[in-house]
Amino acid sequence: MKTTHNFNAGPCVLPKEALKAGIEALQDFNNTGMSVIEISHRSKDWEAVMNECRSLWKELLHIPDNYEVLFLGGGASLQFCMVPMNLLNNKAVYLETGVWAKKALKEAKAFGEVVTAASSAESTYNHIPKGYAVPSDADYFHITTNNTIYGTEIHTDMDCPVPLVADMSSDIMSRPVDVSKYALIYGGAQKNVGPAGVTFVIIRKDIPGKVSRPIPSMLNYQTHIEGESMFNTPPVFPIYIMTQTLKWLRNLGGLEAIQRINREKADLLYGEIDRNPLFRGTAAKEDRSLMNVCFVMSPGRESLESEFMDFAKSRGMVGIKGHRSVGGFRASIYNACPKESVQALVTCMQDFEKTHK
Ligand SMILES: *Cc1c(COP(=O)(O)O)cnc(C)c1O
Repeated sequence: MKTTHNFNAGPCVLPKEALKAGIEALQDFNNTGMSVIEISHRSKDWEAVMNECRSLWKELLHIPDNYEVLFLGGGASLQFCMVPMNLLNNKAVYLETGVWAKKALKEAKAFGEVVTAASSAESTYNHIPKGYAVPSDADYFHITTNNTIYGTEIHTDMDCPVPLVADMSSDIMSRPVDVSKYALIYGGAQKNVGPAGVTFVIIRKDIPGKVSRPIPSMLNYQTHIEGESMFNTPPVFPIYIMTQTLKWLRNLGGLEAIQRINREKADLLYGEIDRNPLFRGTAAKEDRSLMNVCFVMSPGRESLESEFMDFAKSRGMVGIKGHRSVGGFRASIYNACPKESVQALVTCMQDFEKTHK
């Protein structure tokens, strides 16, 4: 197979071990003579996968007993409306740190008053706003912990006077998280924990049931808590691959270990961006994401952009084009992106510099 360094932002690189287990389970699952996608989701064999997946989530993130982990469909985008539908009585507060945050905020407006605590839109979301206040009469405060498009990240679990809701689509399982500080955490799996098609929701059990509006069964968190994510047929194959991805993570040493590796990878790449006179990082240094590294050509060297893109491509780099709203480059270096790939990109930048002194 050809050597590719996969820096795609999502869907993105997954551990080889998880993919291999997926292939095997498609051929013959648990000696059933059938594949994992051909058996009943009510069977004992499948129930065991669901239980293993749930317990891996609880173990890796040290999720307290008064929380449930749900595996749903619809992507993080469906959570943009499910959160306000289930939680918003009067007023919700949002931190606008990027396009995903803005989309979440927009959906909430259909359900009540929405206040923007702060926004970094005017500086193309190149930093995380600080020093804002969260009104204590809000039903919840919504944050996006990692801004996939702009390469900024909230690195710590904040104290919040009202229930804290976080979209962790692109940095879940990249570091230890104090789940007890959050009322609800959600995200699409396809950035760090699995393939597209399954959405994770970690929800404190007392959170649903406080709004008076009628909620359709499928959009009601309570339904899925009671049904243990099996109210309807769950996305079985994505859940299977997610389970294998989490097993890989546990074998690696869990979240402390992956955080150390993620820091090493990010330091390596940001170090080169800061050293190499041809390139410049776009995110404020203190808010730099460990997952999505955004950079552009230095002032005066912008004309080299497409040349560097071709140079990198010829060396097997895939997915480093920046999001269309930002331009430049973005290397997504999620959990499963090997350090060798990051090193290959750094070497590529150094070699490009040598030919453009
Ligand atoms: C990718 C992404 C989304 C959208 O996820 P879908 O599963 O495609 O709906 C939402 N929020 C963040 C932070 C993302 O990175």
